[in-house]
Amino acid sequence: MIAVLKQGTNDKQIENLSSWLKAQGLDVHISKGSDHTIIGLVGDTSKIDEDLLSGLEMVETVKRISEPFKSANRKFHPDDSVIRVGNTSVGGSDFAIMAGPCSVESEEQVMEIAKAVKAAGATMLRGGAFKPRTSPYDFQGLKADGIEILLKAKAATGLPIVTEIMNANHLPMFEEVDVIQVGARNMQNFELLKELGRTNKTILLKRGLANTLKELLMSAEYIMAGGNENVILCERGIRTFETYTRNTLDISAVPMLKELTHLPIIIDPSHATGVAKLVKPMAMAAAAAGADGLMIEVHNDPAHALCDGPQSLTPEAFADVTKAVRRVLAAVKED
Ligand code: PEP
Ligand code: MN
Repeated sequence: MIAVLKQGTNDKQIENLSSWLKAQGLDVHISKGSDHTIIGLVGDTSKIDEDLLSGLEMVETVKRISEPFKSANRKFHPDDSVIRVGNTSVGGSDFAIMAGPCSVESEEQVMEIAKAVKAAGATMLRGGAFKPRTSPYDFQGLKADGIEILLKAKAATGLPIVTEIMNANHLPMFEEVDVIQVGARNMQNFELLKELGRTNKTILLKRGLANTLKELLMSAEYIMAGGNENVILCERGIRTFETYTRNTLDISAVPMLKELTHLPIIIDPSHATGVAKLVKPMAMAAAAAGADGLMIEVHNDPAHALCDGPQSLTPEAFADVTKAVRRVLAAVKED
């Protein structure tokens, strides 16, 4: 349920109304827009007397939110959420570019890639330290050592780092990580999501291999329900009957999610296609469709990468992609 307040309602009145609603066992989200303030109510709103609420002097309208996602709902928060990460942000007018290897392999490898992607315009460094591999015999990542290497690259370049968590017990290792990624395979690991909801870390939530947008938003809701509103959504392709590409990139997810939620949405064209040469056109398409950013796999020696070499760009190819994306962004920018 949301209550749209009349223009001119002051902070004291908003506070009084919030305390009254909280006393009835509800969570209250306040969104101050340019014209109106919206109070979002989460919890069992069946106890609320709708007529009483809409009859209050300061209340313009009261509406029930039919969707099961509340905190993530754009009706609760009409303006785009802008999530600050280090000295950069995701959402709003900024375009985030997260780039780096699929997995952290060595300090030399990460340092070289970090410097190259920064020079090419990346705003964050990605790299997997804990890898969710289909086969238990494949490289599983350098784990804690991998995070240490990422932190060294962060210190050297100033780029905030993004890395994946697979187990909530590992959270202490992520203290200095800027963005914690929840991979596609863990999108519905609800216990992990609840635990992340109790932190104030920025969470990059990837869409599951076979999950609907509603399910993605409900997973975001798990994190937000715990009090952590710093969630970035990521479309990374879904599984279809197509075999020429690793997954099928659902570009329509961007405008659809933009309508449904205020959370930023980025695209990962690397996992979406699995093919390095398809990354550039899909990155351009993402920028044209209104995505808030990209996550791209870059490797200094793709042929010998320990993970996802075929979809990894060389630093030169990545630089070409960022230039093309900037051209698209300039072309679609509205005055
Ligand atoms: C990754 O980003 O390295 C990764 C494993 O992605 P996904 O969870 O989308 O497969
Ligand atoms: Mn990968």
